[in-house]
Amino acid sequence: MFNKILIANRGEIACRVAATAARMGIRTVAVYSDADASAKHVAACDEAVHIGGNAPKDSYLRWERILEAARATGAQAVHPGYGFLSENEAFAQACADAGVVFIGPPPAAIKAMGLKAESKRLMAQAGVPLVPGYHAQDQDPALLLTEADRIGYPVLIKASAGGGGKGMRVVEAAQDFAAALASCKREAINSFGDDAVLIEKYVQRPRHIEIQVFGDTQGNFVYLFERDCSVQRRHQKVLEEAPAPGLAPSMRAEMGAAAVAAARAVQYVGAGTVEFIVEQRPDCSMQFFFMEMNTRLQVEHPVTEAITGLDLVEWQLRVADGEALPLRQEQLRITGHAIEARICAENPDKNFLPATGRLSVYRKPVASAFERNTHADRVRIDDGVEEGDAISPYYDSMVAKLIVHGDDRAQALARLDDALARMHIVGLNTNVQFLRYVLRSPSFAQARLDTALIVREQAVLFQQEPIGLALAAAAAVAQTLLDERALAGADPFSRRDGWRAYGLAVRRFGFEFAGTPTQAQLTYLRDGSLQLEVAGQTGPLVFEPSGSGIALQFGGLRHTVFVYRQGEWAHVFAPHGATRILAIDLLAHAGDQQAEGGRLTAPMPGKVLSFAVKAGDKVSKGQALAVMEAMKMEHTIAAPADGVVSELLFAPGDQVFEGAELLRLAG
Ligand code: ADP
Ligand code: ADP
Ligand code: MG
Repeated sequence: MFNKILIANRGEIACRVAATAARMGIRTVAVYSDADASAKHVAACDEAVHIGGNAPKDSYLRWERILEAARATGAQAVHPGYGFLSENEAFAQACADAGVVFIGPPPAAIKAMGLKAESKRLMAQAGVPLVPGYHAQDQDPALLLTEADRIGYPVLIKASAGGGGKGMRVVEAAQDFAAALASCKREAINSFGDDAVLIEKYVQRPRHIEIQVFGDTQGNFVYLFERDCSVQRRHQKVLEEAPAPGLAPSMRAEMGAAAVAAARAVQYVGAGTVEFIVEQRPDCSMQFFFMEMNTRLQVEHPVTEAITGLDLVEWQLRVADGEALPLRQEQLRITGHAIEARICAENPDKNFLPATGRLSVYRKPVASAFERNTHADRVRIDDGVEEGDAISPYYDSMVAKLIVHGDDRAQALARLDDALARMHIVGLNTNVQFLRYVLRSPSFAQARLDTALIVREQAVLFQQEPIGLALAAAAAVAQTLLDERALAGADPFSRRDGWRAYGLAVRRFGFEFAGTPTQAQLTYLRDGSLQLEVAGQTGPLVFEPSGSGIALQFGGLRHTVFVYRQGEWAHVFAPHGATRILAIDLLAHAGDQQAEGGRLTAPMPGKVLSFAVKAGDKVSKGQALAVMEAMKMEHTIAAPADGVVSELLFAPGDQVFEGAELLRLAG
């Protein structure tokens, strides 16, 4: 076995590969860009080599530099992960030429499967079923139109070199064909440098079911069953599960045999995935067609690991080292049900627009250790980030993968929902709450899966508010009081809830929730208990710390909530969902704590919109000084105390980091 390998990737997959290598006693070399100098994957490896700038073309795609790093560190093999160089035939060949083992298929197999059109011609010869379509070389637009007419609308125009859901256009009728073709070709040339297209019948309400295959250098092949990846947005996978609900054992065997035939046809070696599109007929029968083969380890491979109890990276390493496949087909079994959720930095309510920012809070559910050949991994988190890390615009928006395993689908679903509830991320928008809505949607819960699920269920997926104002406000008030008590320590005279000492038994909180300003009133009763009035509800507010959360009672319900404050926002996580609420007088308290130094800092990363003052101005406590924009909302920075503005440290339009000093006040 290799003594040392280089991992030519970043993020969660680099960490994932490093974990198996470490378990097998193989040393690892990381490579990293400027932005990744202190990334988790660098720490996860034994050595690390800096390979260049932030843009992938300046670092993770620079294969000469990566091979140089392999030579310099004495790495005997390179694991490419997924994305980047993983399906680059030239890189695989360059590794071979340099005497370094490429942990993946031979260059010829990558090439054969690299272009969708050519791979389909090969698959037709190998007897693998194809979606009716046109895959030939002639790209004459008139011919393509004739072919589309022959196939029958709707049709799908696909970039032959495409990937990642890009370069596809659905055409409903002949008169739209020319415009769609031109736009598809433009995207294809820009994204893939090759504008050749193929045309396929557009399958209605299809399922995406793929088969994990493995080959070795001795010509053995197995399939490790299927993954259903039908739940997609923009033709990209969101949830993946195995086994595929409702797949008959006979059809699984047929698909497995077709996938092995596909792999055999290109003399495949290592891990690969054959993707099929499955047509669901009105009579409930299903028919599968080859879509493409991904010649790498797939993002969703942990689902297969969970149901087989195998470590696919270990298999990759063994096969790359020339060993035979560890198991034969008849030794492979499916146990239970597994689901993976991709947690992405994005805004589902804004058409899944990618989000960037800092993970100011990143708390995860407790995972069981990664162990081989057990089904103990009931909850697994694969990630490449730590709390405090930035999600930059340079790379993929995937923050983490949450993988759960259950005895059956219902148990796996419940476990995933619970694990998502324990995933606390503050600092950027994510799809965590959205994923929970998908899990609970009737279609997903009842396993009525197809690629249109998200569109069909949109009424229950978007623009939802999981937690009401009353609970959010009660949680924010409770956290404020707990923070104040912690600050004041045991000294009763400096306790804020000792306001009664000055004759005040009532305290008001200003909130803004879901865009609407509102007020809450907290009354300190003579017996020492608290009463809260908010959102038309009045009742006792009872709370105490519980672990890092708060055991909270309000409105007749008990909840364990977690509240994280970021500037004036309180981010509230309850078992049934998460939300954020703007707690206006929390800012005043934050200001009080800053008053001594006369400093004013940005409560969160964002843009300075304007200053209401200039150097030399006299200001009084509470006066608005500056307005910032962060997370598409405006925030006013108010004077924490009376004073004179001595200096403005930024100009309107400047981007500032969280904690950046915006202006100075002299006392
Ligand atoms: P999977 O089928 O494993 O889910 P995806 O298609 O989502 O894979 O892609 C996996 C990773 O590879 C993603 O990070 C994606 O951005 C990247 N990727 C896939 N195809 C391409 C491509 N043609 N060019 C660049 N990146 C790609
Ligand atoms: P990529 O390389 O981007 O992954 P694929 O060919 O694998 O491209 O297709 C991606 C997704 O597009 C599929 O998972 C499926 O949802 C949809 N799709 C692809 N081909 C068809 C088709 N013929 N009919 C309907 N949907 C399709
Ligand atoms: Mg695909």
